[in-house]
Amino acid sequence: MKKNIDQVDPAWLHGRTAVVRSDFNVPLDGDRVVDDHRLTESLPTIELLVDAGAKVVLLSHLGRPDGKAVPELSLAPVAKRLSELLKRSVRFIPEQDDTDAVAAQVAELQPGEVALLQNTRFLPGETGNDPKLAAFWASLGDIFVNDAFGVAHRAHASTSGLAEAMIAKGGEAVAGLLMAKELEYLEEALRDPERPFTGILGGAKISGKIGVISALLGRVDRLLIGGAMANTFFRALGLDTGSSLVEEDSIDLAASLIEQGGDRLLLPVDCVVTHEIAEGSDARTVSRTDVSDDDKIVDIGPETRTLFAKEIARSETILWNGPMGVFEIDSFAEGTIAIAHAVADACDGGALGVIGGGDSGAAVDRAGVGDRVSHVSTGGGASIKLLAGAEMPGLESLTEEA
Ligand code: ADP
Ligand code: MG
Repeated sequence: MKKNIDQVDPAWLHGRTAVVRSDFNVPLDGDRVVDDHRLTESLPTIELLVDAGAKVVLLSHLGRPDGKAVPELSLAPVAKRLSELLKRSVRFIPEQDDTDAVAAQVAELQPGEVALLQNTRFLPGETGNDPKLAAFWASLGDIFVNDAFGVAHRAHASTSGLAEAMIAKGGEAVAGLLMAKELEYLEEALRDPERPFTGILGGAKISGKIGVISALLGRVDRLLIGGAMANTFFRALGLDTGSSLVEEDSIDLAASLIEQGGDRLLLPVDCVVTHEIAEGSDARTVSRTDVSDDDKIVDIGPETRTLFAKEIARSETILWNGPMGVFEIDSFAEGTIAIAHAVADACDGGALGVIGGGDSGAAVDRAGVGDRVSHVSTGGGASIKLLAGAEMPGLESLTEEA
């Protein structure tokens, strides 16, 4: 087990500087934060440090600026929103190339003060995991706290590089409270799930999720498949999918998963089809055996919703990744919304329900049940990687629990 920030003596933290890697990669509309779920989930770690009287230096990436300063991806709006949420000032430090200026401003911080540095990905050394950049960030503080679960699957200068640099200079690199919470929920679901354990998978593609499908198939009692992913499975069954999104390259793989899964694997029995994936276009329900040449499958049908909801209702552990249809369009969102409600109902009844994946999290919010499910992961790609058992450099580099 990795050491967590709440295992560090608060008296030791007083007056010391904590360098914290958070995941403030939030959607912006101009200079407004559209969805602050990741910010609110990051507060407990920052508040713990502030309460202990530490000086807090926050680091995060935002978007993919590819190693250069992109004004639209500045963290300035995040500093403002974070300050509102924390109810205390957050000093934004926009200088980046001038390390002396950054270090001087950090040195001015008083116990309990919070600063946020500019977008780490404005610097080419971030994704290149440049040891010099990592060493500079490590030089700013006495302890490193990695709370950025969303990038735990990446080896970047501000994640694994910084942890290694902090340990090399004799400091500790510990997990933040959000990181710890994410691991607790996602690993609990996998390690020792209360049964029945149901996995629900959807979304656009099988190819990015092969690891998760295989990992889940070996552990769940039921695996419900929806979204465009189901289309490729339909083809493996020899069904016509018309003009639907299908991964031709993955049909053989789907066939072997069907064989491996046996009656644990449940595919939709009916679907919603349209002629065009667009707002206001036609939507009809058909059996999965009746999809015509110019139909596009865009959602699971009502019979499937009932079938899936019944499986969810009798589950004690539920893990969901990937929407059941093109939920961004109202008339194709009903299947996803129905599943979101089924999961929330099960959680109300005491089941553990964990949602992983960026779009799935958005879908749960759209259904208005975000606060009824046990845990909505802040990590999209990271949660999928973790579930698939992939390496997590951002975690592996941290200090072991004593
Ligand atoms: P997550 O981010 O939760 O892992 P994905 O990124 O894998 O989910 O998939 C989400 C996308 O899949 C959504 O944009 C949704 O519109 C799309 N999608 C789901 N079902 C279909 C379908 N039947 N046809 C086309 N796209 C689909
Ligand atoms: Mg996605």
